[in-house]
Parts: sequence; C-alpha cells; structure tokens
Amino acid sequence: MVPVSSPKTGLWKYLILGAALLLGGCSTNPATGEQQFTGLLPAGQEASIGASEHEKVRQTYGEFITGPIAEYVNRIGQKVASGTERSDVQYKFYVIDSPIVNAFAIPGGYIYVSRGLLALANSEAEMAGVIAHEIGHITARHAAERMSHGVLAGLGAAVLSAATGSSAVGQIANVGSDLYIKSYSRGQETQADELGVRYLATAGYDPNAMAGFLKSLDAQTKLDQKIAGASEGAGFNYFSTHPVTGDRVTHASALAVNYGGGAKVDNRDVYLSMINGLTYGDSEAQGFVRGNNFYHPKMGFTFSVPQGFEIQNNPNELIAASKDGSIIILDAGRDDQGRDPLRYLTENWMKNKPSSAQAENVTINGMPAATAAFAGTANGAPVIIRVVAIQWKPGQFFRFQMAIPQNAGTAAVENMKRTTYSFRAMTESERASVHALKVRTFTAAGESLAQAAARMAFPTHKEERFAVLNGLGGNGLTSGQIYKVVTE
Ligand SMILES: [Zn+2]
Repeated sequence: MVPVSSPKTGLWKYLILGAALLLGGCSTNPATGEQQFTGLLPAGQEASIGASEHEKVRQTYGEFITGPIAEYVNRIGQKVASGTERSDVQYKFYVIDSPIVNAFAIPGGYIYVSRGLLALANSEAEMAGVIAHEIGHITARHAAERMSHGVLAGLGAAVLSAATGSSAVGQIANVGSDLYIKSYSRGQETQADELGVRYLATAGYDPNAMAGFLKSLDAQTKLDQKIAGASEGAGFNYFSTHPVTGDRVTHASALAVNYGGGAKVDNRDVYLSMINGLTYGDSEAQGFVRGNNFYHPKMGFTFSVPQGFEIQNNPNELIAASKDGSIIILDAGRDDQGRDPLRYLTENWMKNKPSSAQAENVTINGMPAATAAFAGTANGAPVIIRVVAIQWKPGQFFRFQMAIPQNAGTAAVENMKRTTYSFRAMTESERASVHALKVRTFTAAGESLAQAAARMAFPTHKEERFAVLNGLGGNGLTSGQIYKVVTE
C-alpha cells in the first residue's frame, strides 16, 4: 500500500519539486569539482523532462536525419561520452535536418548537431570536439541549471493555432529574435570548452580540434554577416546558444597544450567521406529560400516577399520579417468539410474573429481565395492583420497571415498585396530546375584556390565561401588532400 497519494499533475508536482529542492542541498559535481545545488533538478527528473523536451525538438525541427551519417555521429558521440563523468546519464545523439550551424544539449543526455554544422567541420576530431563541448554542458549540469530557471519554457513555440489572432502573430514575431534555447553564460561556455578539450583528448583525438572548429565558426559567422550586409544580425546559430568571445579560440588552443602527449587522431579523410553528398542549405523536403523567393518544388508552389524581408523556413511555417515590424507567415490548413475559401476562412480558420464578417472572395493566379483584415497588436504595437486563405486543392489551403504596423504607410500595404498575388503554382520546368545543394569532396591535384572555388554553386563570394568551408585561413590547397565543395 502506498501510504500517501502521489498526484503527478497540477500544483502538487510543483510542491513535490519544491520539497526536493529543499532537501537536495549541495554536492560536489564530479566533472567540475564544484559545489552544486543538485536538488534543483534531480537526475531522474532530468531524464523525464529531457524525454518530453526531445519530443518538442522533433516537432520544431522535423524528423531527424537517419542512416549512415546519424549512426556515425552516434558512434563518435558514445565514444567521447564513455570517458566522461556522470554514469547516470544515457547519452543520445541526433542529427537535425537544419541548414543552420548549430549544436545543443538538453537535460537527460540528449545532444543534437545540425547537418549545417556537419558540413562546416573538417574532421572527425572537430565534430567530436563539438560533441565533447555539449557533453561538458551536461556533466557540469549547465542545462539543468538553465532548466531550473525555466529557460526552456519557450522551446518548440510553434504557436500557430487554428484561431490565429494578434497574440499568436506577436508570439511568432518573437521566435525570430528570441529563439527557443537561450544562451549559456560566458563562464559556462569557458567551463564546457575546458571539459570538452579534456574529453576530446581522453577519447584519443587531437585536442587542438576544438580551437580549429571554433575558428571555422568564427569565420563562417563573419562571412554570413558580410554577405547579408553589415546591418543584418547573424540570426540564430551556434553562437547565439553558445556565445563566443574574442578569446575563446585562443583559450581552447591554450587548453590543448595541456594534453600534448600521445598519438592524437583527427580522422579527416574518414569524416570527409562520411559527409560527401550531405545536403547543404535548404532541403527538397523543406523548400528553398533563394533571395526574396521561396520555392517548394516538392509541393509545387512559390511566392516572393518584398525587398528587406528575411525568410525563415521552419518545418511548419515560413516566417518573413522586416525591420519596420511587418511580418508574413505562410502555413497550410485543411478543411475536412471541403468548404470554399470564404466559408473556410470565416467558419473554420478565423471563426473566433468577430471582424471576419468583412471577409471577401478574391482570385489569386487562378486559385479561389478569401481574405479578411482586422486590427490587432504584435509585440505590443498596433498592427493591421491581413489573412488570406488560398485554395490549393479541395479541402487544402495555403494561408497567409500578415501583420503591418498601423503607421507603416501605403507602400508597406502594397508590398503585402504583391506578396499575396505572387503566390502561384510552379511550372514543371521550374520544379525540375530547383535542387538542393550538396557537399561534395574531391582530392586536390594542383589546382589553385580560385579554380577549386569556381565549382561552388553560389552567385557570389565563391572563394571566400570555399576558404571558410574548408578552414583554409589564408592558405591554398595542398595536392593530394581532400577538400569540400558545394554543388548542385
Ligand atoms: Zn556551449
């Protein structure tokens, strides 16, 4: 018999957690040797929270990449993890199908690396270094500490609900600037680097690989900023979750000196053969952002956003935002009753909006559609919200939600109109001509950097992109070495 009932939900959960917190007290962390307030998040709790957060990560980023590359990442991850403290953690490694260079850990031993990061790394040791750094965050319980402060509350904030209104638009607007996982502190980063270099060396890898990868990241970030224009933020990448300071590369290099002895491998050739053929940038399944245009060859539609908008391609919606506070969201909706666009908009999608009485029929590139506008707020500012439901097939709709600041003027309104009317089906030849880019490897045979870089499938900055992708610094190619290039 259980003497006391143990409710698992509601307020009780927090009271129980609070009691554990009081009883927990301090203990010595085996990785860092520091006194830590372990009661904040007991290991068992970490595992169950991790499992539910993992599901949110999957919902946010879509299905993980499987197959040889995922097995390889897991194999290297387990190898690095086996030489670390905290035997209570079962490590699990996943490859996120995202072009963004990123890696992160959540409580419970879940570690994620993106295919964007895999494309940038130049050796198994560099990838292992990223993993070792993430394991360092886990062994030092940084994630658990952040979790205790409720930082992950916004994870997976895919907030589009059926009754989309101003609040949802406001929440989505935040996704761009204040992303799911907040950054670690500078002190936590330094500690994870220190642990990471130690774990890297323990696993038999060249400890300099940590600094090597940080150097590539730094170069990539600077190039991205240069290409996007100095005024643009770098967006959401590894450095927004793991802040870099000027001395982080230097510090990682200095740490490596402590682990100088012994045979250290980097497995560059093995690694480059594993990532040969990896998708680079947007994938066919996700559709492609090309400048101000978005193409989804698999689903067969395209549309354009005005100049000055940056498109963010999420698994469940596209979000484009401009500096003046205008927001464009495109997603898909279903109607099981097969209603026409006007009835779908008023009776289903926007049924909770009183102003949807003003909805009207329109035709967009031959497709029946309906639109309505109402006043709302986004990020606390008054906006006009324009919604458009375009019937793609019976019962299937593409849906625009646009927020325009009240004071934005007629040009902004015109821009949104143009966006709406740019939505159309792709032609067969268009569908056949837009492809995902791939990382391909080749062995240098006396060519110059410029000759090798000419193969890069980008309209501009070919040589700089090639140099950053291969971590060349100011150096040229060495004959007989394997390098990466991005081609169609
Ligand atoms: Zn970090």
